[in-house]
Amino acid sequence: MSDGRIFIEPVPTAETEAFWAGTAEGRFLVRRCRSCGKAHWYPRTICPFCSSDETEWVEGTGEGTIYSFSIMRRAKPNYVMAYVTLTEGPTMMTNIVDCDPESLRIGDAVRVTYVKTAEGRALPMFTPKSEASA
Ligand SMILES: [Zn+2]
Repeated sequence: MSDGRIFIEPVPTAETEAFWAGTAEGRFLVRRCRSCGKAHWYPRTICPFCSSDETEWVEGTGEGTIYSFSIMRRAKPNYVMAYVTLTEGPTMMTNIVDCDPESLRIGDAVRVTYVKTAEGRALPMFTPKSEASA
């Protein structure tokens, strides 16, 4: 889906290359530490919690809940910036799409959806689970 907005093109690095390869296939990968067991965002080789380099990619659920959000009303069309707490633990900044912004509530369950960028990468964004399954 696309509403004609221009998104900031992600620049894959050595640390995030696998993540972007995953989204291109519709897979949401999360980086987790084998040493302390915690997942983190954004993906890094060194664990931000315990500084271990024993981190690995795991298949994420692509599901989470809205931690906070704000509606960008000056944009046409309006869009929603949000922090989503993933089921795996970390919180990421993202957009909520395919929704009625006025009906969103903190704590709402969301799931990942992918928006194609100009260069063909798949940006992970989130959409309310209730509306998606309705
Ligand atoms: Zn760790």
